[in-house]
Amino acid sequence: MAFLELLDISKHFGHTAAVDNIGLSIKQGEFLTLLGPSGCGKTTLLRMIAGFETPTTGSILLDGEDITNRPANKRLMGMVFQSYALFPHMSAQDNIGFGMTIKHQPKHVIKKRTAELLELVGLAEMGQRYPHQLSGGQQQRIALARALAVEPKVLLLDEPLSALDAKVRISLRNEIRRIQQELKITAIYVTHDQEEALSLSDRIAVMAKGKIEQLDAPENIYNQPQTAFAATFVGNSNQFNGIIESAANGLCQVGTRTLNVSPLSQFRDGERVLIMVRPEDIAVQVDEDTHDDLNVLAGRIDLRTFLGPFTRLHVSIDETTTLLVDIPTRQAASYTPGRQVHVSFPPQACKVLALDAKDAEL
Ligand code: ATP
Repeated sequence: MAFLELLDISKHFGHTAAVDNIGLSIKQGEFLTLLGPSGCGKTTLLRMIAGFETPTTGSILLDGEDITNRPANKRLMGMVFQSYALFPHMSAQDNIGFGMTIKHQPKHVIKKRTAELLELVGLAEMGQRYPHQLSGGQQQRIALARALAVEPKVLLLDEPLSALDAKVRISLRNEIRRIQQELKITAIYVTHDQEEALSLSDRIAVMAKGKIEQLDAPENIYNQPQTAFAATFVGNSNQFNGIIESAANGLCQVGTRTLNVSPLSQFRDGERVLIMVRPEDIAVQVDEDTHDDLNVLAGRIDLRTFLGPFTRLHVSIDETTTLLVDIPTRQAASYTPGRQVHVSFPPQACKVLALDAKDAEL
């Protein structure tokens, strides 16, 4: 059963539909991420859930109650911002205790709960410090503890890691997930960082232009994208604009070539599509492989980039097309720039996606 439910929510600012008729059901204890590019409406959606914005249309239900017009401070939600937003003149423990203090909770209760929360976020020894005496990552841990102090029904996080450096970002991201699972709290997380979304979430809502393009588990978003936008926004990908040559035989025309793709019952011959292939699904070899229905393309390595366990080859197959090919680094020694190679990928590696007017720029 849905714990938090958004029913046909829209938010218009003048002529801009920042959020365009979104419906979304979130389960209790779920970690849901709103993922999308700048301006797609994810912050506006989160702010409506928090009660900082009023929807133009639609309603929000929490635990069966309509909270659409309830003030933010009566919604029992905890919020963590990109900017930490700690009170600079208060110690870490006073920041955490602030929400409990204004609710006139007894001092000994505040003290005990603050100590527990400091422990939970791994800063048991730092309660006396002021924000300026803490690193960015530590300040964000305190902000998280402060959001949790009021025992919110839902934890809302708006790009909480964006201001931190890469290493801190990864360790704090793991901490957020650990704490969310330990407390079994419902969390909604806003980010434009696909890696963050894939690693943290139970489900991801991929957003574009005020709408949800796909709502799914991270693995499905990555492996089974349902729209051209989701396919190109999440993960590295190679893309071809194609025309269905024979839906029945799984053939797609791409420029002067024909690619073998899987059966295409949902498409008509002659339809314009986007074909997406992940770099790790492409093999490279020196000799031509004439194996069955593999797609085999001749090309030349222009660039190679070392990525630790993987090496990424940029293989140009004609003047306008360069493919990214990820191969295990231990097999990459002989694939050097300038080398003529053949790349190949099976029909199942080709995701064929409908293009509509909205995808004109893809
Ligand atoms: P970012 O990652 O850059 O924060 P976002 O996906 O969170 O982007 P929103 O901040 O929700 O996007 O903005 C969605 C759209 O609504 C944008 O076109 C933005 O300019 C517009 N918008 C947001 N807030 C307001 C406002 N208060 N007044 C007018 N337009 C707004």
